Amino acid sequence: MTCKEAIDVLADFLEQSLTDELAAALERHLVDCAPCRAYLSTYRKTRDLTRRTERVPMPEEMKQRLHQFLRKRLRRTGAD
Ligand SMILES: [Zn+2]
Repeated sequence: MTCKEAIDVLADFLEQSLTDELAAALERHLVDCAPCRAYLSTYRKTRDLTRRTERVPMPEEMKQRLHQFLRKRLRRTGAD
């Protein structure tokens, strides 16, 4: 699994709507990939925050910003 693939399925992973196979592949990727772990952590915190306050769904713009953040990081470190 590449970082791009991992990012694409992270939201579903947190919603536990991935197949077992895909979830296992993602977990294997996360073990070796610090940027994706950081992304997951940020994403989860943001989601928990929006859940607590309710009435505020995860804005699409926020998701896009997180994606851009990770892509920039990957480009800098050359990990992609
Ligand atoms: Zn990754």
